Amino acid sequence: MNRRIETAEILAIGSELLTPFRVDTNSLFLTARLNELGVVVRRKAVVGDRRDDLAACVREALARVDLVITTGGLGPTDDDLTREVVADVLRRTLTVDETILAGIEARFARRGVPMPAINRRQACVPDGATVLPNSEGTAPGLLLEHEGRLIALLPGPPREMQPMFARAIAPLVEARSPGRRLQRRVVKVTGRSESQVEEIANPIYTSLNRDGVVVDTTILATPGQIEVHLESAGEDQQAIAAVLDEGVARLAAALSPAVFSTDGRTLEDVVGDTLRARGWRVAVAESCTGGLLGGRLTEVPGSSAYVLGGVIAYDNAVKIRDLDVPASTIDEHGAVSEPVAAAMAAGVRRRFGAEIGVAITGIAGPGGGTAAKPVGTVCIAVATPDTVTARTLLFPGDRDAIRRHSTSAALDMVRRALSV
Ligand code: ATP
Repeated sequence: MNRRIETAEILAIGSELLTPFRVDTNSLFLTARLNELGVVVRRKAVVGDRRDDLAACVREALARVDLVITTGGLGPTDDDLTREVVADVLRRTLTVDETILAGIEARFARRGVPMPAINRRQACVPDGATVLPNSEGTAPGLLLEHEGRLIALLPGPPREMQPMFARAIAPLVEARSPGRRLQRRVVKVTGRSESQVEEIANPIYTSLNRDGVVVDTTILATPGQIEVHLESAGEDQQAIAAVLDEGVARLAAALSPAVFSTDGRTLEDVVGDTLRARGWRVAVAESCTGGLLGGRLTEVPGSSAYVLGGVIAYDNAVKIRDLDVPASTIDEHGAVSEPVAAAMAAGVRRRFGAEIGVAITGIAGPGGGTAAKPVGTVCIAVATPDTVTARTLLFPGDRDAIRRHSTSAALDMVRRALSV
């Protein structure tokens, strides 16, 4: 019986991928597709065009997982070594396949040029390999089985590699592991640090594994947002769904009210849906974020239903002239203060005729901080028909991170104002 395919390793081959100028994106594509098929990627590596490094990586990978996928290094030049090295590691001889050779020659002929002699290499096939036709380029892929494990050699260019994976590898994986799928749930949190989330979430996800369902957890932190990913691969989709759903419910309860999404929606989506449900429209007044909040709100298609507009009030004169912030409030408390944020939110709400106004004023740095108001100090206010609420927050990181944090915190304040 064929060995099941549950684990994989990806080797992205090419010295150019070890320079600062090229990024390995093939492994991201492959990881996403393999996960959909229930295959867990145990390791991926980027390896240069060096025979011994490549041989060591291939050997190690074959000892560890059910499926090894390499991309790149199938070209005609001397530094394209994948085919030879894999044949060597598996002790297979390479022979020129006349049909492949004729195909490559025909491809060149169609372009009106003779095939360079070096392209013969691309027609070399190790003993026992299955040839994977390349609809988009000259180098065919190769599939080999070694002691029950599979190794697939795919071309480097994504436009060649992706259709080859879909046509030749995905059906094979599916046939070897019928019914196996990876399910993932994502719990999104804002307003908490990664370590706070980890502290609360850890006891929950360590207690989830049961009924043969093993849950893997990953925490992804970006400025202003933490995502807890729960995932599990297997055949019993119902059991997996039950365990993951229970995990989501327990995490949502423990981290509430900081959890804003368990169904894939972004913070902007959630705020938009809530505004729409309430029939409210929002206007924004932004100082240190210079339009980023308005940008995030309007990233959502259909946001014209609830976004009226906004003012980038970077200069104090604009805060006074366009948002009716009293000059005396700025003089007394400073531009970065809760009273100024509150006046901006109330002003933009009134000026635009919105039900809800939101304002951000802060010090994004790197300059402009003081002992009392260091870089990262941001005041955010939300004005509704009933109240104006203002908060002062201190965000870590550089200018970009502080600005991103500020917009997430502002969106979250809107979300919370709407939930009462
Ligand atoms: P070719 O026959 O076109 O030379 P090949 O299989 O030898 O194919 P490489 O020469 O290794 O592939 O890579 C060709 C190009 O494909 C690279 O210059 C790069 O643009 C792209 N590429 C290679 N590997 C990757 C990767 N891991 N992620 C994204 N792009 C890649």
